[in-house]
Amino acid sequence: MVVVLEKNVTEQQIEEIIRHLVDFGFDVHKSTGIEQIVLGAIGVKPDFDIRKVKVLDGVQEVYRITEPFKLASRTFKKENTVVDVKGVKIGGNEVVVMAGPCSVESEEQIFSLAGTVAKFGGKILRGGAFKPRTSPYSFQGLGEEGLKMMRQAADKYNLLVVTEVMQIEQIALIEEYADILQVGARNMQNYPFLKELGKSSKPVMLKRGLAATIEEWMMSAEYILASGNRDVILCERGIRTFETYTRNTFDLSAIPVVHKKSHLPVIADPSHATGYRDQVIPMARAAVAAGADAIMVEIHSNPEKALSDGPQSLYPEQYERMMLELKAIAAAIGRTV
Ligand code: PEP
Ligand code: MN
Repeated sequence: MVVVLEKNVTEQQIEEIIRHLVDFGFDVHKSTGIEQIVLGAIGVKPDFDIRKVKVLDGVQEVYRITEPFKLASRTFKKENTVVDVKGVKIGGNEVVVMAGPCSVESEEQIFSLAGTVAKFGGKILRGGAFKPRTSPYSFQGLGEEGLKMMRQAADKYNLLVVTEVMQIEQIALIEEYADILQVGARNMQNYPFLKELGKSSKPVMLKRGLAATIEEWMMSAEYILASGNRDVILCERGIRTFETYTRNTFDLSAIPVVHKKSHLPVIADPSHATGYRDQVIPMARAAVAAGADAIMVEIHSNPEKALSDGPQSLYPEQYERMMLELKAIAAAIGRTV
């Protein structure tokens, strides 16, 4: 931690600040510059609240040098984590594609979409059976029936299943059907839930919260890792900003930032990030170019009739085109799709 002192700090204030830092458990090193004094405080604990120092008289600014997350950080583990889900590797050279409807709606719908996902090279079938809807009057998902249908459809086409878990009580049930447990944006900071997911033997895909900083997102990953589950996949799905022409603002830069700060794979969901189907393919291309380890998109055979998120769902032929384009972009950066 670096503590910059105010220009007019008094000798007495400096002594007080140093005394507090030592009390907090730091080794303190003082450097006197031409204009200002800087204190280096070594031995920071990851959970130290730097505001304790910011509020001291004579302190101008405090900077943390170490990140507050440990297990998720690149400093802790240099090599990329590759999450191996029954042989499908997320975080390796291949950019994995996950696709499917927003919600599982019927047997016919999910089987037909699973066929489409597999036919054009997708490896993982997505679809919600328990849906976190903004309105309690909107379709809430088919529940276990939906999970069964999705599992059967995925098995028929040799796909894996990713689906959202919304609460602790659903974990055991969903583990029976899914290969990857999805934590939705609205649940990113539900800490008791994250701790329980940390005990699961299934990989967890953690979406970024609507208003979460990258650091907060990493701290949520830390909860899962610290509880024992090392298979965490991060998913950028757009954040809330002042922009109204898109549903969310796709934070593409989060991809290289996470890759620098963390060894965990990071994937992109351009469907929820943009909210409109005409924006999904351009942003999927951009995400692959930016280094995303997987892409997750919503598709639907009849999006006008979809029970949720129809406007952002690609038609099957658009999905086919997207796959061709993603292959070309991946090849340009030495990866495959
Ligand atoms: C979803 O993937 O269907 C979903 C609800 O996403 P998010 O949590 O990102 O809104
Ligand atoms: Mn959706």
